[in-house]
Amino acid sequence: MGFELPELEYAYDALEPHIDAETMELHHSKHHAGYTAKLNAAIEGTEMEGKGIEELMLEDFDNAAVRNNGGGFWNHSLFWATMSPDGGGEPGGSLRNAIEDSFGTFESMKEEMTNAAMTRFGSGWAWLCVSNGELSICSTPNQDNPIMTGEGVPVLGIDVWEHAYYKSYGPGRAGYIQAWWNIVDWNAVADNYESAL
Ligand code: MN
Repeated sequence: MGFELPELEYAYDALEPHIDAETMELHHSKHHAGYTAKLNAAIEGTEMEGKGIEELMLEDFDNAAVRNNGGGFWNHSLFWATMSPDGGGEPGGSLRNAIEDSFGTFESMKEEMTNAAMTRFGSGWAWLCVSNGELSICSTPNQDNPIMTGEGVPVLGIDVWEHAYYKSYGPGRAGYIQAWWNIVDWNAVADNYESAL
């Protein structure tokens, strides 16, 4: 059995023009599938088999294959589930209140997360997390995430590896990050926020 690659809830071309179909297909069917297969290979036949993904990431952080591929599996699962062709706009309800409590305004949160994504050197992720009941922004290298580092539980994350944007945007991230805000599914983020409290 092991971990299974989650199916997308939209077509590979559904996030265009913000993310192109070829990038989506390679990213899901090659990159994410690769992390999933390598994670399963790393745990098969060991005492790690049967553990949940979050338990694996915390307890087996020093195992490079589990850390990198387990992170890759978990991070991309969150990434797909928090984007939608019907995304964009602004959150409401308790998520909006929490954003305003922590950052002052929704725009300030966007600026802080955009800055975290822009300044992450090399490959990695920027995150909006719940930590001790409050929202915060951080970034991590490679396929690490704030669950591993104890910084919080991510409710939203942006992949800033070049494979996420290079075909459409080239070496600069700014256009990709700006476009990505148009496809963030705030309903999904709100569900993640409620679960993380
Ligand atoms: Mn990726």
